[in-house]
Amino acid sequence: MKIYERMGNGTFLVTEGQVKYIEFECLNKYKDSLIHCMSTRSGGISTGKYKSMNLGFSRNDLRDNVNENFALFCKTVGLNTDSLVMTNQVHGTKVCQVDEADVGKGFTRESDIIGVDGLCTSTPGVTLVTFHADCVPVFLYEPGINAAALLHSGWKGTLSNIAACGIDKLKQLPGFDSDRLIVVLGPSIDFCCFEVSEDVYILFKEKYSNNEFYRYKGNAKWHINLKGIITRQLKDKGINVENINDCGICTKCRNDIFFSYRGDKGKTGSMAAFMQMKIQGASNEENF
Ligand SMILES: [Zn+2]
Repeated sequence: MKIYERMGNGTFLVTEGQVKYIEFECLNKYKDSLIHCMSTRSGGISTGKYKSMNLGFSRNDLRDNVNENFALFCKTVGLNTDSLVMTNQVHGTKVCQVDEADVGKGFTRESDIIGVDGLCTSTPGVTLVTFHADCVPVFLYEPGINAAALLHSGWKGTLSNIAACGIDKLKQLPGFDSDRLIVVLGPSIDFCCFEVSEDVYILFKEKYSNNEFYRYKGNAKWHINLKGIITRQLKDKGINVENINDCGICTKCRNDIFFSYRGDKGKTGSMAAFMQMKIQGASNEENF
């Protein structure tokens, strides 16, 4: 049985057995064709600082535990683990289009998708996976052509505008219409908690001069509104402001639910974000 609990803006915390995950109302409208979700800390078998649903392979957790966490999580949300395609994130802006030839990359087999912080696909049955523990997950869905992209926009990716790169990649798909594009900025470190030193502040201020993105906290520290800047980047690419949804949830403030790199002082696990267009006419068990 699934229990839906509202949190943030248009966001649900879904509990199913031991597993808790996030869904967004604006994407649930398309649940006949789209599976989307983001994991939380809960429902896995990892221990210690990775307790319990650690989905990150790069954090020195036991590989078997992470594999088992993926199996548990995917079973809960109706995804086949064989359908996963993973980024290996480098805080860059490269977005890669993937299809059925790429399934399993980064999970069941070696990946040649290297140096990539975003994935997009228009192929049903292919599951896009990105990793997050404060960095902004950007979910993009174009319902008219049934295409999706998933981006990892940490501060470096935000500074170099991976959002624009993701939209440029989607624009290459036949029939893409930016007027229909729906965007969700998922749980990530928010304006309340994202503190940087002066050098990082200056890098941002040079590119995004608007004072509303910054708050001086004293002692040469600033807070930066990453989701505000990403929203500006999306608007600059012609995305309708009413189609841009900020879930309004801070991973550091809600460290009880989410892994937070800052909240856990670097000793933490990783969540993952998922998007897959369903294969029509097939039960999801049969997808690949
Ligand atoms: Zn916060």
